[in-house]
Amino acid sequence: MQMNLGMRAEIRALLERVEAVVRDEIMPLEAEYHAEVGQGDRWTYTPRQAEILEGLKARAKAEGLWNFWLTDSARGFGLTTVEYAYFAEAMGRTPMGAEVFNCNAPDTGNMEVFERYGTEAMKAQWLVPLLEGEIRSAYLMTEPEVASSDATNIAMSCVRDGDHYVLNGQKWWATGAGDPRCRVYIVMVRTGGDDLPKHQRHSMIVVPADTPGIKKLRPMEVYGHDDAPHGHMHFKFDNVRVPARNMLLGEGRGFEIAQGRLGPGRIHHCMRAIGQAEAALEMMCKRSIAREAFGKPLAQLGANYDIIAECRMEIEQARLLCLKAAWVMDQGDARAAAPWISQIKVVAPRVALRVIDEAVQMFGAQGISQDVPLASMWTHVRTLRLADGPDAVHRRQVARAELRKHTQARV
Ligand SMILES: Cc1cc2nc3c(=O)[nH]c(=O)nc-3n(C[C@H](O)[C@H](O)[C@H](O)COP(=O)(O)OP(=O)(O)OC[C@H]3O[C@@H](n4cnc5c(N)ncnc54)[C@H](O)[C@@H]3O)c2cc1C
Repeated sequence: MQMNLGMRAEIRALLERVEAVVRDEIMPLEAEYHAEVGQGDRWTYTPRQAEILEGLKARAKAEGLWNFWLTDSARGFGLTTVEYAYFAEAMGRTPMGAEVFNCNAPDTGNMEVFERYGTEAMKAQWLVPLLEGEIRSAYLMTEPEVASSDATNIAMSCVRDGDHYVLNGQKWWATGAGDPRCRVYIVMVRTGGDDLPKHQRHSMIVVPADTPGIKKLRPMEVYGHDDAPHGHMHFKFDNVRVPARNMLLGEGRGFEIAQGRLGPGRIHHCMRAIGQAEAALEMMCKRSIAREAFGKPLAQLGANYDIIAECRMEIEQARLLCLKAAWVMDQGDARAAAPWISQIKVVAPRVALRVIDEAVQMFGAQGISQDVPLASMWTHVRTLRLADGPDAVHRRQVARAELRKHTQARV
């Protein structure tokens, strides 16, 4: 079958508009936006911060540059996953990029859940304001007490009591849950006993953020940063009562939903990581031309040509793998796509980390400072080697798919 990794001509024009907004409108405001976080309460938006973010969002929305992530859907532009890869890469060049176009994690994954598995009432209450960019959401799966890379360990209890469910337990690393605009959580819980098959013991339930009994214990820190105002929250649920109608699909169907949710979300992170790598390489090149030592531009010293070349080659390899994984997803067989998504989930952060680290080196001490975004880019990309499944779990998936070919061949 012919593998098309390109895009339609009309889509290219759209992409060029997104690239221009990122370069000319978002990036010039990033430093001011992030400087505002330190002013007053870190978990609210200062008026200037809100003005910047909402202003950029309003302009993007008014121009129709919105919800590109709705691939293969009548609601959006009907992009293929391959086409969306180029958009996510462009948006990923800057931390605010995805949100300005309403393409940010974890909301896109949560919107997908509401669209595919939600009731009409859930769609009206949560999906519509999320699609409009009016509220935000979080996804609560990981727990402090259990190894959550094996999601069959998830232990938060969820017990039926009349026309409600009652939830007890802890969740942590709930990205985006610190944001004052975050109104709803999709929560992975345990509903079934040991008598059930392992993948039928869990469910997903929709929990409004203002439900009594939810305690925000603390924001988790990423290498000392709390990532305010979005944050990664640690929660305790103390007899949190949720109407039974908030259960998605029905008890025991959590894994079915998780598979649908995590595939696209994972590859979107990879696409954005490639955007980060491109941004870092561009910074590195400009710096190496502009600054001189020992009578020459830095680019011409030592092994710097080789370093720049290696970075370029690694980015190209990662992008091609990402596009191939996207293409396999577009063929509609989630099972076949899983090992491809796992491959790029390992490779993209690895490449981006290497490129960002080389850029840091080219910048000297300024590279790790607050004056350039490289340090925060590195810490963010480093988290992708854990979030949505650690590298080891994805390598296992890749190896199992590889071995399966040979086991089947023998049968
Ligand atoms: C910045 C950030 C944001 C996050 N956002 C969210 C979020 O929004 N919602 C959410 O629910 N979670 C979120 N997470 C949590 C993340 O998904 C989990 O940390 C991840 O799934 C791993 O679970 P764990 O931390 O319990 O690690 P564990 O399961 O304890 O695993 C620890 C280590 O054990 C090793 N290991 C595990 N399995 C294998 C294996 N099969 N083979 C070999 N070695 C193995 C690996 O080295 C692994 O890193 C986030 C994490 C970070 C850092």
